[in-house]
Amino acid sequence: MMLKRLTVITCLFLAAAFTVAELTTANDASQPTPDQKPPTPQQSFSMDARDVPVLMYHHLDEHPNTSGAITPEQFEAQLQWLDQMGYRSINPDQLVDSIESGDTFSRPKVLMTFDDGYRSTLTHALPLLETYGFEATLFIYTERIQDTPGHLSADELLVMQSRGITIASHAVSHADLPALLTKEGLPAVQHELNHSREILESLMKTEVTHLAFPYGAYCPDVINAARDAGFNGLFAITRNRDCQDDTIVQRIPVLRETTLDEFRTLLSPSGKTGS
Ligand SMILES: [Zn+2]
Repeated sequence: MMLKRLTVITCLFLAAAFTVAELTTANDASQPTPDQKPPTPQQSFSMDARDVPVLMYHHLDEHPNTSGAITPEQFEAQLQWLDQMGYRSINPDQLVDSIESGDTFSRPKVLMTFDDGYRSTLTHALPLLETYGFEATLFIYTERIQDTPGHLSADELLVMQSRGITIASHAVSHADLPALLTKEGLPAVQHELNHSREILESLMKTEVTHLAFPYGAYCPDVINAARDAGFNGLFAITRNRDCQDDTIVQRIPVLRETTLDEFRTLLSPSGKTGS
């Protein structure tokens, strides 16, 4: 059902091809099953670091015209529910460290991410995140930083960082990296990875060690190039069937069509309650 809707959206909104392509690919892995129940914040709660839900957003808009945009009201309802259920946010460093250490959490955790550097993350998402006490991470493709209407400027990224938001890489040009590898070879992929990291680190004056693959697309050579470029947190959207790799963190897309009930269900596989 969701895939059918997304197909229609793809036809209607070709102009938003980047986002829609990501989201269409994304949905395969995160179909809920009907009997999943949201976790409850009880004392015996235990969440494996590997099971922490990682949410993927793009853009907040009063009148969303793409599947990747949701209204501020939708977003606030989701934050409210997360808050009521006892969820607290973690950042990518905490997630990657916890996965490596095999940690479990005694209360529900969530990692919230926003792709592509839309300005609405500052104007709409950040005030709501602050109201409910959640952190978030922005995956930025560096070509978009300067003077692109509707997108965050360098100064605005610094404001976001100063208010607790993690800035991470989404490559330079939002290229499909496996496709780029085939077409132009490894040096072009290495440029996308290394240059984006250099630009962000020089701008943010901090280490940038997390990367979201544009379109969630990756393959073994791209993973190796990303690790060689210094990224230790690698984020995608759905499992690439040609390239199973359990070290890639899979994210749950939150779409305009995602109702609050669906949102609750999407989050539910993460929690395990003991007795
Ligand atoms: Zn993107």
